[in-house]
Amino acid sequence: MRQTVRKSKAECTGCGACTSICPKGAITMQPDEEGFLYPAVDGGKCVECDLCEKRCPAGKPQQAHKSQVFGAQNRDGQLRQASSSGGVFTALAKEWLGKGGVVFGAAFDEALRVEHIGAFDEMELSGMRGSKYVQSDASDAIAHAAALLERGIPVLFSGTPCQISGLKARVGRKDSDLLLTVDFVCHGVPSPGVFASYLKELEAKRGKKVVRYAFRDKRKGWKDFSAVATFEDGTEHVGQQTTEPFLYGFLQNLYLRPSCVQCEALREGHHAADITIADLWGIQELAPDRDDDTGMSLVLLNTKRGRQAFEACRTQLSVFPIEDTQKLLRHNPSIAHPAKAHSKREAFFRHYQKHGFESEKVMKLLAGPNQLERVCTRIAHLPRGLMRRIRVLLRKT
Ligand SMILES: Cc1cc2nc3c(=O)[nH]c(=O)nc-3n(C[C@H](O)[C@H](O)[C@H](O)COP(=O)(O)OP(=O)(O)OC[C@H]3O[C@@H](n4cnc5c(N)ncnc54)[C@H](O)[C@@H]3O)c2cc1C
Ligand code: SF4
Ligand code: SF4
Repeated sequence: MRQTVRKSKAECTGCGACTSICPKGAITMQPDEEGFLYPAVDGGKCVECDLCEKRCPAGKPQQAHKSQVFGAQNRDGQLRQASSSGGVFTALAKEWLGKGGVVFGAAFDEALRVEHIGAFDEMELSGMRGSKYVQSDASDAIAHAAALLERGIPVLFSGTPCQISGLKARVGRKDSDLLLTVDFVCHGVPSPGVFASYLKELEAKRGKKVVRYAFRDKRKGWKDFSAVATFEDGTEHVGQQTTEPFLYGFLQNLYLRPSCVQCEALREGHHAADITIADLWGIQELAPDRDDDTGMSLVLLNTKRGRQAFEACRTQLSVFPIEDTQKLLRHNPSIAHPAKAHSKREAFFRHYQKHGFESEKVMKLLAGPNQLERVCTRIAHLPRGLMRRIRVLLRKT
């Protein structure tokens, strides 16, 4: 009997589709020692039909498409403030709810774990707004979305590119105009276990519970975003991109999922989603007169369904076409290339497994070696003969 879906850790994206593809309910998602979820198979239930293997989308090439490219901003300033980029997700979602659909996206639960939930009205969209730089557990949502589609209910599903390809693998041939998929240009996802450990450290230091966390607070502007933890008594801990240890570690690729640094297949021209959204970094060069630093989205329309959905919500948005796509790549390399793991990733996880997340250690790892450590490393790498001569010289002096 199998114990696991036979995907290597480097391949498995953790999309969770296999949990609902399995007809015997033999697969659950379980955390590994780095805090990422992977499928685990209950050998007693598995009948070795191999459906999980056959339908798993990991590493399978996507059909190529040519996208139409736009810059866009939600006309509603409050919505824009609450969104990470230009608030295009909310415009698409509101339009979808208006026609009786259900919207799935990532939100924090009460324990500040990130998971995909379904929204049936506009109020329920608020928790989905804003990027959470933690891998979301989408396995239940993928199963629910597939069940709704089977009942003829329209579904908008928003998630990472690999979650969208997982959903498509689960839905299979039943994919229809009832389903609209929205992904984003993806830098990669950090470990949920590491984030939980970071919050624990923050709570222990302050002696109070964190009740809310925002990775993309815009109080200093869209470009210079901050991370803000709100405690139970209403006080806050505010950190910047290079001073807030968890955010800095994410941006420096210290604890991304192993599959993220190999993720070539779901990028430029190969997204599984109908629409891809992102930050329009480089706006100051591309369209300086539109740069008000409140958030601007990049929108890639990948399919006819995507173009129709964007057209339908266009009155909520201020939109302009983008011709120079090469400039986009310079400002947002994740459009075309996966991130490169930080050279200290292994050292981080060795320490994490013994001590949990320690902000001081993370900042030290990210700062690199100090001058004395650099000199010692250089000496250690000198050729043996030269080392011997230096030792003789030192003994003589
Ligand atoms: C982990 C991660 C990495 C990203 N990397 C880049 C990048 O390299 N370059 C770039 O330009 N943009 C990146 N983005 C996308 C960008 O940050 C915005 O989320 C996107 O532009 C949408 O902005 P918005 O204002 O339209 O919507 P918002 O209101 O900000 O909505 C956010 C949407 O993202 C979804 N979402 C939030 N967190 C997660 C999560 N953890 N997993 C799955 N879905 C989630 C929500 O369901 C919602 O649909 C990333 C987002 C995430 C979550
Ligand atoms: S379906 Fe998703 S979670 Fe399951 S093995 Fe494949 S990539 Fe991993
Ligand atoms: S980088 Fe690739 S594998 Fe990682 S979360 Fe994004 S789409 Fe999935």
